[in-house]
Amino acid sequence: MAENELQQVHNLLIQLQDVLKKKFALESEIEELPKNLSGKRTDLIKANEEFLALTDKYKLAKETANRTALDYETAFNQRVSSEKKMESVATQREFDALSKEIEEAKITETGLNKAKKATQEEVDSLSALVAEKQTALEEMTNEVNAAEAELEAQVEAKKAEIVTYEEACQSIKAQGVSDNIYTKFASIVKNKNGLGIVPVHGQVCQGCNMILPVQFVNDVRIGNSTMYCPYCSRILFYEESEDAYDYTSELQVQDEEDQTVTADFGSDVDIDLDSI
Ligand SMILES: [Zn+2]
Repeated sequence: MAENELQQVHNLLIQLQDVLKKKFALESEIEELPKNLSGKRTDLIKANEEFLALTDKYKLAKETANRTALDYETAFNQRVSSEKKMESVATQREFDALSKEIEEAKITETGLNKAKKATQEEVDSLSALVAEKQTALEEMTNEVNAAEAELEAQVEAKKAEIVTYEEACQSIKAQGVSDNIYTKFASIVKNKNGLGIVPVHGQVCQGCNMILPVQFVNDVRIGNSTMYCPYCSRILFYEESEDAYDYTSELQVQDEEDQTVTADFGSDVDIDLDSI
């Protein structure tokens, strides 16, 4: 690849970086948005469960009240019928037995009358509570639905914006960035805080501040092919800089100590994108 051709690719990558950064920011916003709603959704589910438990309790109370009312009616009729029998009593013995029966029937009737009132009061109070909770639940449901609709609209707007950024990326890419470089570069920008292409000043990668081997920097400077920083995986280009410091002497010492450091460096460094 000719030097100015590579420069042209780097210029395109710098343009791409701007657009990709905005696109990825929107994508993470879309991921974050539903989290604001999850608390409200959980509250609604809980309120729904509580409401179902309350209506079950209400149904049960109603059944008990109905049963008690029937029992009371039976006891009432029993007492009235016993009292009627009194009219045809012939002997003292019959009178005593019937009197005892009426007395017992009265006690049962009074007890059931009390129970009937108590169970009806329970039904009335639960009925009021059910109505109150139902209104609250409806308000809560409307609130969550409105928030969900709002969220949906926000997501749609962001997705539409992403589409325009994707189109912009494709149009920049079409000017001379290969599929391979584009895919790697997009992944680097995404995983390296929006910075996928960085200059080398002197011997230092401006992405990770690591000192690069002399020969490697020379290759970057010559610019025959796309070079990736062996430390941070970002694409590198050489840039003259006043604050550049010559690390050559230090690095040579380092090279002697560990030959393997430079042995793997080259223009065809195979970047493991999964590890970025
Ligand atoms: Zn680096």
